[in-house]
Amino acid sequence: MISNFADRNERQPARIDMHVHMVGNGWGGSGGWLRLSGWHRRLAGFMVRQLGMPGSALEGDLETLYAELLLRLVRESSFDAIVLLAHERVHDPDGTPREDLGSMFVPNDVVLGLAKKHREFLAGVSIHPARSDALDELERCIAAGAVLMKCLPNCQNIDFSDRRYRRFWERMAEVRLPLLAHTGGEHTVPIINAALADPKLLRFPLECGVTVIAAHCGTSSGLFDRDYFEDWAMMLREFPNLYGDISAMVSLNRCGHLLDCLRDEIALRIVHGSDFPVPVLGHRLRWQRSLARHTFRRIQKLQNPLERDWQFKEALGFTDEIATRVTGLLRLDLIRERAL
Ligand SMILES: [Zn+2]
Repeated sequence: MISNFADRNERQPARIDMHVHMVGNGWGGSGGWLRLSGWHRRLAGFMVRQLGMPGSALEGDLETLYAELLLRLVRESSFDAIVLLAHERVHDPDGTPREDLGSMFVPNDVVLGLAKKHREFLAGVSIHPARSDALDELERCIAAGAVLMKCLPNCQNIDFSDRRYRRFWERMAEVRLPLLAHTGGEHTVPIINAALADPKLLRFPLECGVTVIAAHCGTSSGLFDRDYFEDWAMMLREFPNLYGDISAMVSLNRCGHLLDCLRDEIALRIVHGSDFPVPVLGHRLRWQRSLARHTFRRIQKLQNPLERDWQFKEALGFTDEIATRVTGLLRLDLIRERAL
């Protein structure tokens, strides 16, 4: 199963996990930061220890330790590459950055730099479209090899339907840079405006021609979140440029709609992502009898979370196409051309 980008037949599509978060605290001078309090600190400590890193990594050179860990996990998995995501700061609608809000900032240069160094990493940048320099930053990231642009609208305070962003979306469409947009509830990053998680707000970038991937297919993250899954599924009929990722859906909270993503009209628009470092837990799928006991036990024991996430999905019936489909959306041809 273990493969490598370089060894694979050129015509064979690469297997890509298109939703992996970069994490860092700016220790090495990247300009990024991590600010955790209350239960978010406990959650981060739990995640770090689960990954086999010491709890003290949160205070040290977290970026380097985390990137090394990821590199090892990709190499020891059945994936050729992962899209590594930057994380933008919260901004007011007038474009003022709000350093006082949010829990982390991972600058675009961190993921662009890592993608230059390692072919296993592809850069997913993050730009608030209200920024006064948003278009310049978009051009800079395109030139530096970004494969997609990620936003968490409810956490970063982005209203995708704001007409002032037309030029920004049109430019993304022109260069075929997809938008990976968080949809549905969120519990690992603080919420600024929950209403902005509605996938219907994505109509405007879709109408501007942007390829949009709705992260988590609009599913709810907690008991009191609104579930937008059917709203998102309805939009698939209207917009051929709309997709959904099944990241963080092998979990206790979001797995309710995972099997719905195998429905004929939906499966063709699904791409695979893990949402690492969000923990991969197949327990609820087992309680619901979606997985046989021995299958659950075998897969839950896998040490590599990227591989564990994929194998649970494979056992539920997701095909290899789900892991390779995103290759056609990420403008990899343009990036390879430039590298030649
Ligand atoms: Zn995510």
